[in-house]
Amino acid sequence: MIEISGLNKWYGQFHVLRDINLNVSKGEKIVICGPSGSGKSTLIRCINCLEEHQEGSIVVDGTRLTNDLKNIETIRREVGMVFQQFNLFPHLTILENCTLAPIWVRKQSRKDAEKVAMEYLERVRIPDQANKYPGQLSGGQQQRVAIARSLCMNPEVMLFDEPTSALDPEMIKEVLDVMIELAQEGMTMLCVTHEMGFARTVADRVIFMDEGQIIEQAPPEAFFSNPRSDRTRKFLGQVL
Ligand code: ADP
Ligand code: MG
Repeated sequence: MIEISGLNKWYGQFHVLRDINLNVSKGEKIVICGPSGSGKSTLIRCINCLEEHQEGSIVVDGTRLTNDLKNIETIRREVGMVFQQFNLFPHLTILENCTLAPIWVRKQSRKDAEKVAMEYLERVRIPDQANKYPGQLSGGQQQRVAIARSLCMNPEVMLFDEPTSALDPEMIKEVLDVMIELAQEGMTMLCVTHEMGFARTVADRVIFMDEGQIIEQAPPEAFFSNPRSDRTRKFLGQVL
């Protein structure tokens, strides 16, 4: 589903991603962790064409990422993304947030788009909030809307960038539960998160990044019980 090879990226002089190689199969769930500033967000933003890369190749479901606008549209249709800060449109209702892209990008009728949106809002357990505005919802509810909104585009892959880091502790579980359900339904997922319980429950592989490199990757049991690198061990000592 995703094939990344020899990926290098610089911000000016700063070498932010170094020789990243990563293949993700259909239905696979990957958790990416690592210290702040290690390049996790940059990596997943590259997969969604939110950032350009300078070297190497990224292929998503057979489409190679180039700066061609047409390609970018194709990728954005296939890849859903959920951010730390929800990024809902504040002046649109929850339902309008969920139907905007299906109507304008997918050219669905409003009626069809609303029907699909309500199905997803039910799946994330907030259909009763459909006519409210984001500012009227809790953080956990807003993040569930953000997930539903992505799903309305029927993506092949979902990327999550620290989706629970901005939430109060009591709201983390309601978001993780939705993500766990999505994983169990077979979605291909790449999640940057430090929720190690989530990693143990759903990840097929846990990847540890530091200083722009993939330092280590392993299934969760091996990753947590027997980390090979000192850097991984030090990091796990801080988050577990
Ligand atoms: P992480 O998500 O692991 O915390 P990021 O991918 O956000 O790391 O950032 C990796 C490094 O790149 C950090 O040192 C950060 O300061 C730097 N960086 C991120 N975005 C930019 C940017 N737009 N311009 C310059 N440097 C950036
Ligand atoms: Mg980040």
